[in-house]
Amino acid sequence: LIELDRAHLIHPVASYRSHEKHGVRVLASAKGATVTDASGKQLIDGFAGLWCVNAGYGHESIVEAAARQMQELPYATAYFGLGSEPAIRLASELADRAPGDLNHVYFTLGGSDAVDSTIRFIRYYWNARGRPERDQFISVEQGYHGSSTAGAGLTALPAFHAGFGLPFDWQHKIPSHYAYRNPVGDDPQAIIEASLAALKSKVEAIGPERVAAFYVEPIQGSGGVLVPPKGWVKAMREFCREHDILFVADEVITGFGRTGPLFACSEEEVVPDFITTAKGLTSGYVPMGAVFMADHVYETIAEGAGATAIGHGYTYSAHPVSAAVGLEVLKLYENGLLQNGVRAGARLMRGLQSLRDHPLVGDVRGRGMLAAVELVVDKSNKTPLPSSAEPARRIFDRAWENGLVIRAFANGVLGYAPPLCCTETEIDAIVERTRITLDETLE
Ligand code: PMP
Repeated sequence: LIELDRAHLIHPVASYRSHEKHGVRVLASAKGATVTDASGKQLIDGFAGLWCVNAGYGHESIVEAAARQMQELPYATAYFGLGSEPAIRLASELADRAPGDLNHVYFTLGGSDAVDSTIRFIRYYWNARGRPERDQFISVEQGYHGSSTAGAGLTALPAFHAGFGLPFDWQHKIPSHYAYRNPVGDDPQAIIEASLAALKSKVEAIGPERVAAFYVEPIQGSGGVLVPPKGWVKAMREFCREHDILFVADEVITGFGRTGPLFACSEEEVVPDFITTAKGLTSGYVPMGAVFMADHVYETIAEGAGATAIGHGYTYSAHPVSAAVGLEVLKLYENGLLQNGVRAGARLMRGLQSLRDHPLVGDVRGRGMLAAVELVVDKSNKTPLPSSAEPARRIFDRAWENGLVIRAFANGVLGYAPPLCCTETEIDAIVERTRITLDETLE
């Protein structure tokens, strides 16, 4: 498999030579929060695959729901006014639970095309309102909004831009709220005010009548699990409302119990105009994303559709098998998984906080089952680890040897997003194996 992989399989993100050099690690099976590799080694998956297997692996009821749907109706297009029962029911169940008036759901294949879809919907919206000049988009540094070309421009990670002339000239960024390394310090109010001032001046620089939408993640995930101060999301949302700018909450990571509730926006007491989701929606068993759209946006686009040609959709939009899985996963969340995630998340945070005294640990942050430990070379002046993939790769490898899968970001941040089904013993093992890995890294 390693040889075939080297020869034929293109991996995402990583430099292509990396998997050729190190050899792929082949996963063979998984149950609950434990994955087993092809050599039989068992590990706790502290990252739920790629922040997605929220329900844990090997749920018979999910497998049965998928199999049943495959037998009954494996495919139905959502084009031509057609549909399928699971897709309609899932849209309805989700709309019931979404914040405020986000009553319309558009299914995609994952998070990138969910974000891409919002870009198109937003342009349709402003066209329908007779304001096509509102075509400028703003997002946040260190944010991640997918890997499609338009979404990658909203994403603020340089590796996603190089060679494409990204971001596009209609895509702008304001600095992140990143508290550990914020020029205004870590005072919550100062951070909120700095972000508001940055957004205000960005809007003024672009032209207040030109800004279409502002994108945030309630917690920035791929940027290193950056948690904004309480009230930050709400303050940004209010600013957008006052300036007639559409507000998009990208909950591809934070949605479906990752931070506690089904939607992190609920905790922030914020009702956006759009929410994008994926990952936990189907818990990674099958691909699916969902865009939630507010009533007023839907009505405006629908009314304006006569004047604007709307062409947007995928062969696999609203896929019945994915929808059947989504319905089953939703049941699991509400039959104890969300609650378990909240309990396990509190234990995870306490455990990781106990690593604060470790000489390599600069910062510990997170909410619920979404956490990060930021490593530094020198705690007193927060000197970051050398920003190259190699130290991160070594930490990832050591953790692996110790029976733990974590995400080791190139900037020395360790990311945690375990399945919500983790037991107390598994959470304690995640923390303990991290401690051992850090001690070995010091040696
Ligand atoms: N938005 C956010 C906030 C994400 O974290 C991700 C994926 N990590 C995406 C969008 C893209 O989702 P996908 O990889 O499913 O295309």
